[in-house]
Amino acid sequence: MQEFTDIKELFGCDVFSDRVMQERLPKKTYRELKKTIEEGKDLSMEVADVVAHEMKEWAIEKGATHFSHWFQPLTGVTAEKHDAFITAPMENGQVILSFSGKELIKGEPDASSFPSGGLRATFEARGYTTWDCTSPAFVRHDAAGGILCIPTAFCSYTGEALDQKTPLLRSMEAVNIQALRLLRLFGNTTSRKVTPSVGAEQEYFLVDREKWLQRKDLIYSGRTLFGAMPPKGQEMDDHYLGSIRSRISAYMKEVNEECWRLGVTAKTQHNEAAPAQHELAPIYAPVNIAADHNQLMMRILKKVATRHGLRCLLHEKPFAGLNGSGKHNNWSLNTDDGINLLDPGKSPHDNTMFLLVLTCILKAVDVHADLLRESAADVGNDERLGGNEAPPAVISVFLGEQLEDILDQMIENGTATHSKSGSYLETGVRTLPDFRKDANDRNRTSPFAFTGNKFEFRMVGSRDSISGCNVVLNTIVAEAFQEACDELEKSDNVEETALELIRKYATEHKRIIFSGNGYSKEWQEEARRRGLPDLPSMVDAIPALTTEKSVRLFGSFHVFSRNELESRAEIKFELYAKAKNIEARTMIDMASKQIIPAVIRYTTILAQSYHEVDTVPGADAGVQRELLSQTSALLSETSTALKNLKEAVEKADRFQDAAEKAAFCRKELVPLMRALRSPVDELEMIVDKELWPIPSYGDLIFEV
Ligand code: ADP
Ligand code: MG
Repeated sequence: MQEFTDIKELFGCDVFSDRVMQERLPKKTYRELKKTIEEGKDLSMEVADVVAHEMKEWAIEKGATHFSHWFQPLTGVTAEKHDAFITAPMENGQVILSFSGKELIKGEPDASSFPSGGLRATFEARGYTTWDCTSPAFVRHDAAGGILCIPTAFCSYTGEALDQKTPLLRSMEAVNIQALRLLRLFGNTTSRKVTPSVGAEQEYFLVDREKWLQRKDLIYSGRTLFGAMPPKGQEMDDHYLGSIRSRISAYMKEVNEECWRLGVTAKTQHNEAAPAQHELAPIYAPVNIAADHNQLMMRILKKVATRHGLRCLLHEKPFAGLNGSGKHNNWSLNTDDGINLLDPGKSPHDNTMFLLVLTCILKAVDVHADLLRESAADVGNDERLGGNEAPPAVISVFLGEQLEDILDQMIENGTATHSKSGSYLETGVRTLPDFRKDANDRNRTSPFAFTGNKFEFRMVGSRDSISGCNVVLNTIVAEAFQEACDELEKSDNVEETALELIRKYATEHKRIIFSGNGYSKEWQEEARRRGLPDLPSMVDAIPALTTEKSVRLFGSFHVFSRNELESRAEIKFELYAKAKNIEARTMIDMASKQIIPAVIRYTTILAQSYHEVDTVPGADAGVQRELLSQTSALLSETSTALKNLKEAVEKADRFQDAAEKAAFCRKELVPLMRALRSPVDELEMIVDKELWPIPSYGDLIFEV
């Protein structure tokens, strides 16, 4: 692995980037490939062969010995299979290193071991990975040496998507076509492509690896399943943006360097709200690249942690009672010639195209709030959403004072005549510069907030792929644009019709706008009054995928077929049930083998002490007696809860239908898990620390 000290040299040094291609590929091949990347032109095998050869030569110079198609099946993690570049030895025993165009563009992993949700019977195991040339190949270095990784999409023999990437690429195409239509209607003749861009802020926790190894719950389920709150949590707000300790700084430095090598633009790093919680954000990029980069970033966060004796927790809620982790998905639409469709400009009130784009998005989010909610559904997020730290499970949109005011003017008068502007910020200190404030404040409790020139979807879970929510965003916005364009193309006065549409959409979908405190109880009630869907759990959200509305939407843009949607719903139900099962079994294991034995040891000591002290004349063993009776009561509550949970786990095993099993887990298993946790957490506060078998929350979050 080459070492660099200069960031400019380091950045992208392991990426087969546009610059590298330009340098190394014959001019004609480069031009052909660019046509495929930029215009989607078919790639000939001739071009693929030349590209593959140069890619291999370059990768070998970087120290690679193998290549791998790198893809994102529906397991939630990335998958790869390494093949060495060597060919069969020649007669003299020598090997040649080769890599063909065919190997570059097509792979054939055995699809039967990946989730397919019934799309493909196991005997029809064929699946294909195909090269996504719009996301650059890279060489990754780890214990296995250098691997040339080729980003690919993963489909079944019949072309059905088995991964996260395929629908994402399809949805990008859908929104591109409709957004271009809109631009043309407003007189734009220059832009050739509209790309959704995303910057995904990644939150994570770091704990000491030695302590992590002592907690089976963290090992098996990624989160703590027991644990009493330490005397200090995050109430002092002294961790958020606090100074970063040197052990963590050293870790962050290496994370950045590894990201930069792979062209991942790690930019902003800071401590987050909870102790031991941090964040890393890249610079935004086209969404398929942002999704690939986010996967790389998560992997790097994990890998580098091990080198520093740390463990990186990407779970949405590693610790009950402390903030969980999410992934803020900042989304905008940008043309190839530098126009951001979500940029309001200086006077948004007379920027008709912007207002139309904005109200189309309002409409899209209102009509498909259930789908957007579903896109953020993953097992861990059930513990986080609505927890006074993350947006509630109800979707609403925050626009800010300026835009809300403009829409109000439109609704009332048909037009808007002015935009409220930000006043000057005056600190009252002469040496501090005064500056113009943003026209809008932020609202951190909103799941979908307009933040100047982009929307920030704040619901996504920290472990989840960002593909899911962007597939939904791209497609629902494509639909809204399509419906608007259909009207505008019929009209002989585009400007006037656009204003009518803006007013219509703003009026009809006003109910989705909410600027207040999204964490409050009142909002829950208000949301119900407005008829907004409230889907608290993943299990409640999954059916949104397969409604007729959803099948129509995704079908009409060729993003998902009905089959694909049904299979995805099935996979998600299975995933939920499996995860809950693992959690329940882990709790049973820990309670039976670690916690109950420790509590028994403690009660034995108490009982002995009680007897010994009680025989001493004048001595009082009242404290021992009281502790003993308290502990015994909690112990017996634990034992009963354990028995109940065991029975429920056995019952869950008997379900055949994935949706029914998931519903059972949510309704029966989850409350029983809570019932087991409760006495154990109380016991943790009573039992001698020396005897408690697992590191406490305090040990985990304050001693990193
Ligand atoms: P914050 O939301 O914390 O104020 P920023 O607004 O600077 O932080 O950016 C957060 C993320 O949003 C970053 O990843 C950034 O690259 C991304 N971002 C900034 N502008 C855009 C945009 N126009 N489209 C998409 N993402 C953007
Ligand atoms: Mg942000």
